[in-house]
Order: sequence, then C-alpha cells, then structure tokens
Amino acid sequence: MNVVNSDIAIIGAGASGIIASIIAARELKKYNKNYNIILLEKNKRVGKKILITGNGKCNISNTNISPKFYYSTELERAEYALSKFN
Ligand SMILES: Cc1cc2nc3c(=O)[nH]c(=O)nc-3n(C[C@H](O)[C@H](O)[C@H](O)COP(=O)(O)OP(=O)(O)OC[C@H]3O[C@@H](n4cnc5c(N)ncnc54)[C@H](O)[C@@H]3O)c2cc1C
Repeated sequence: MNVVNSDIAIIGAGASGIIASIIAARELKKYNKNYNIILLEKNKRVGKKILITGNGKCNISNTNISPKFYYSTELERAEYALSKFN
C-alpha cells in the first residue's frame, strides 16, 4: 500500500470530485495556501462515467445534439430539457 501525505483528500474522481479538486486548488492558490490536494479514485481511470454521458459525447451541450440520440421511453423529457438551451 502506498502512503501519500496530503492536506485535503477528495474521494471519487467523478465529475463532482474533479471539479471539487480544481476549485479547491484555485481557491487555495488565491490565498497563497500551498496545500497538497489528492484526488482518489477506485477505478483505473478518472471520470469514467463522464465518458458515457451525453450519449458518449461527454456533455449535454455538444454541437450535434438531438433528442433522437437519447435512449429513453420518454423522449419528450429530453426534448423539454434540450429546448432550454440555445
Ligand atoms: C447513461 C448515463 C448518461 C448520462 N448523461 C448525462 C448527460 O448527458 N448530461 C449530464 O449532465 N449528466 C449525465 N449523466 C449523469 C452524470 O453522469 C452524473 O450526474 C455525474 O457523473 C455524477 O458525478 P458524480 O461525481 O457525482 O458521481 P460519479 O460520476 O458516480 O463519481 C463518483 C466516483 O467516485 C468513485 N468512488 C466511489 N467510492 C469510492 C471510494 N470508496 N474510493 C474511491 N473512489 C470511489 C467512483 O468510482 C466514481 O468514479 C448521465 C449518467 C448516466 C449513467
């Protein structure tokens, strides 16, 4: 087992953990705090679930977006959500 010293440990490198790590690093830098932040992930790679979102395009807001790309028995829900973005 590896032992790593850190000041802040964020568990889970999904979208939330990745963003939390970035924001924590940015905010601490503003105050010249030289803290070590470690992001721990049990999977072999970080952000794995992000890869399957947006129909494999990683985000709801990709350029080629259409409700027909979503797997659902209620596509009107996707249509409604997508209609809220220009
Ligand atoms: C099929 C599908 C399509 C989706 N499409 C979209 C979309 O188009 N747009 C959109 O905005 N959202 C979409 N989502 C939702 C989006 O993927 C999730 O809301 C988002 O990934 C949640 O992020 P999270 O960091 O909260 O959780 P997760 O992504 O679940 O991340 C948690 C991480 O913590 C890790 N973890 C858990 N326990 C431990 C532990 N003890 N030690 C170390 N690591 C641990 C897990 O392995 C995981 O990597 C979709 C989800 C799915 C399943």
